[in-house]
Amino acid sequence: MQWAERAAPILPSTVSSNTRYAVGPSLPNLVMRCLPTVRCGSGTVGAALMTTHSRHSQHVVVVGAGILGACIAWRICERGFPVTLIDKSEPGSGASSHSFAMINADAKFPLHYHNLNRRSQDMWTRFAAELVRDGDGTRLGLRWGGKLTWVSDADAAARLEAHVRQMQSWGYPMRLLNKSELSDMEPGLKVGSMTAAAYSENEGQVEPQLVIEACLHRLAERNCDVCRNTEVTGYALTRAGRVKAVKTTSGDIHCDVVVLAAGSDTTRLASRLGVHVPQETSSGVVIRTTPLPPLLRRTTVIYAPPTVAGEPEVHFRQCADGGFMVGEGDQETHAEDGSQAHADELLARASSHLPELAQARAVAVPAGLRPLPADGYPAIGFTTQVPNVYIALTHSGVTLAPVLSQLAAQEICDGVLADAVLGPYRPQRFAPRSVG
Ligand SMILES: Cc1cc2nc3c(=O)[nH]c(=O)nc-3n(C[C@H](O)[C@H](O)[C@H](O)COP(=O)(O)OP(=O)(O)OC[C@H]3O[C@@H](n4cnc5c(N)ncnc54)[C@H](O)[C@@H]3O)c2cc1C
Repeated sequence: MQWAERAAPILPSTVSSNTRYAVGPSLPNLVMRCLPTVRCGSGTVGAALMTTHSRHSQHVVVVGAGILGACIAWRICERGFPVTLIDKSEPGSGASSHSFAMINADAKFPLHYHNLNRRSQDMWTRFAAELVRDGDGTRLGLRWGGKLTWVSDADAAARLEAHVRQMQSWGYPMRLLNKSELSDMEPGLKVGSMTAAAYSENEGQVEPQLVIEACLHRLAERNCDVCRNTEVTGYALTRAGRVKAVKTTSGDIHCDVVVLAAGSDTTRLASRLGVHVPQETSSGVVIRTTPLPPLLRRTTVIYAPPTVAGEPEVHFRQCADGGFMVGEGDQETHAEDGSQAHADELLARASSHLPELAQARAVAVPAGLRPLPADGYPAIGFTTQVPNVYIALTHSGVTLAPVLSQLAAQEICDGVLADAVLGPYRPQRFAPRSVG
């Protein structure tokens, strides 16, 4: 169940705090190695000013044009650095195109990880407004309306009630509802037997493909390159062990910093540099439907109980084009069946809770792999093995794109590590491995 109590995991700490918090080779640091120290009065000219003078000669390569890589590339190019964004196929064709793309911090444990998601959730409106320029985030499918959940047996009710109390104690705007409140909120739902219900008001949804397209548009405005259908196959290293170019199926591309945001392929790409970022294999299925008129009055996301005991719960939401997305279980449930028969079955289950949904046809979508670091938490930051390589790998990457892209760009461009926020998520927590 989505809100099942989990023991708060302790993040492994395999490196000393000195190692973990070592400053990476941000662009200012690279610049400082190249430039003589400039004195101004009695003080040294700061890194930011040096960055300003030299940014056109520093080149960042971002590998992977999913939502995370595209947002990081946009944030860095906004700072005035030339960026090349590379994808082995079409941008957005990885996990980002399979995502349920709900924006939330519910059931994200422990508190620091909840707070990271919460911070990003709170950033989404301004992030989207900046990205589309005219301030209209709905052009990215961004919609806020909250999540409505109900359950139909006594055990699930006890778990949901305890979960709501915990989220409330963390200050999350979530509350229990009775049946008439639920029906008032969404009159189109057929609730059936209900033992408990909850509403979390600050959750929303977005369309990752529209976000990625907007990032590509902004990169093009700044003459940054986007290389489609170009696979990164290896690296050229300096004698000092830095990446000086990425090798691709279209030739070598020079870089001063390389960001590995290749989703589930990040592990393989990093391992070629001796960097160990293990992942869990986790596939999920979210089907789509043909468009319908608006069916949900207020909420964006519905989590409904199983119709048959033992089945996972079903969740659904309506997209910007009127089509619905339907998935099952929670955000980590393993599912592989991308068949039309399974899509029809998922739609039938969702329609039993929202009868008007039966007017739509199910559109099968193959299973997608969730990028998922082995302990479930983001792996974000410079590597110690190859200091100009920055890892950007996470689950919940749709929720987390605003905060992770802002902080990654800041760390890369300004050379100050955001350890107070990202300290628990450094890739160094995974045991290093020698180059094989
Ligand atoms: C079923 C499902 C449901 C989900 N639901 C949610 C949700 O509700 N909310 C939420 O926040 N998150 C959700 N997620 C997770 C979220 O979708 C991902 O965390 C996010 O999309 C990851 O984005 P990314 O850019 O890191 O990776 P991806 O979107 O996978 O992008 C990586 C890109 O790298 C490219 N690439 C790979 N190897 C190479 C190479 N060698 N050279 C060049 N390019 C390469 C790929 O082609 C791909 O385009 C869900 C995921 C799934 C699968």
